[in-house]
Amino acid sequence: ENHINPAYTFENFVIGKGNQMAHAAALVVSEEPGKLYNPLFFYGGVGLGKTHLMQAIGNRMLEDDPNVNVKYVTSEAFTNDFINAIQTNQTEAFRKEYRNVDILMVDDIQFFAEKEGTQEEFFHTFNDLYNNGKQIVLTSDRMPQEIPKLQERLVSRFAWGLPVDITPPDLETRIAILRAKAEADQLDIPNETLSYIAGQIDSNVRELEGALSRVQAYAKLRKEPITTALVYEALRGMNLANEHHELSIADIQNKVADYFHVSLSDLKGKKRLKSIVMPRQIAMYLSRELTSNSLPKIGKEFGGKDHTTVIHACEKIGEVIKVDADVQKAVKDLKNALNN
Ligand code: ADP
Ligand code: MG
Repeated sequence: ENHINPAYTFENFVIGKGNQMAHAAALVVSEEPGKLYNPLFFYGGVGLGKTHLMQAIGNRMLEDDPNVNVKYVTSEAFTNDFINAIQTNQTEAFRKEYRNVDILMVDDIQFFAEKEGTQEEFFHTFNDLYNNGKQIVLTSDRMPQEIPKLQERLVSRFAWGLPVDITPPDLETRIAILRAKAEADQLDIPNETLSYIAGQIDSNVRELEGALSRVQAYAKLRKEPITTALVYEALRGMNLANEHHELSIADIQNKVADYFHVSLSDLKGKKRLKSIVMPRQIAMYLSRELTSNSLPKIGKEFGGKDHTTVIHACEKIGEVIKVDADVQKAVKDLKNALNN
């Protein structure tokens, strides 16, 4: 029992700017474990592929030699095993199990923080493996020296090999990941639609996968092909509000359209009715205030209008707010609704 997920392979890991160093190091380690980078230490935020890449090393080693002794654990599992061993007087068996391996992978070692006894035991495990030329691979959400209450001797050992960070995928990589997953699931999705999803979900790969599953389920339910319009509907209700998620112009347009009971197409259209012009101008004004989009970009999102139209809308609403209590209240309500 090595607890490795056979789906986490190099073959289905998409390489991009944020992970290419980590990927290259992982490949080297899988080819020559215990030689060059020991320990190999991946760090970075959640859902960026640390576990996947780590297990890809194990899977590749097993592929090359089914008899190789690969062990993968989360740091919690290591801790629990250790505590159990103490309680049942089986520390010898515990040591044998953890030291009699060719490669030991411990995932999310930031959870070793403050666990003195576990750190002590891991220190000895580490030394034993290291001295015997066995490979150690570790992951954490941050650099070794930033892990709180991690013993200095562990911090320094973790830095002996190669600490390498994984950063969030850029747009091109996100599109490539989606394309790979769509192909694997035999989904027929236009490129434009994949780009749209990648543009909406910019946090991490796990979120990207979640969005794709949601879209897939939604298309099945509606018995419709996956188009950008369908994706838009599917992702609408999804909580995209991770901490770093910036409001999009589409978010604002949706809220404003709802608030004033006008259709999205009217909001972005050319009709000059007062009941539509005011909401349209408010939506432009809020897009300017609450997002970092440029004036031309905002104009474009409103049915391809010129940036001077956006400037005019912003000035207009800025003036009206001062004299019209209804508009003032609407803008305030909308800001509140958009900010949570
Ligand atoms: P972490 O351990 O950093 O939190 P995971 O390794 O669990 O992240 O990755 C989250 C999900 O995203 C997994 O399903 C994984 O297969 C997938 N994933 C992450 N990075 C990539 C990538 N570069 N290519 C393909 N899939 C990826
Ligand atoms: Mg992980």
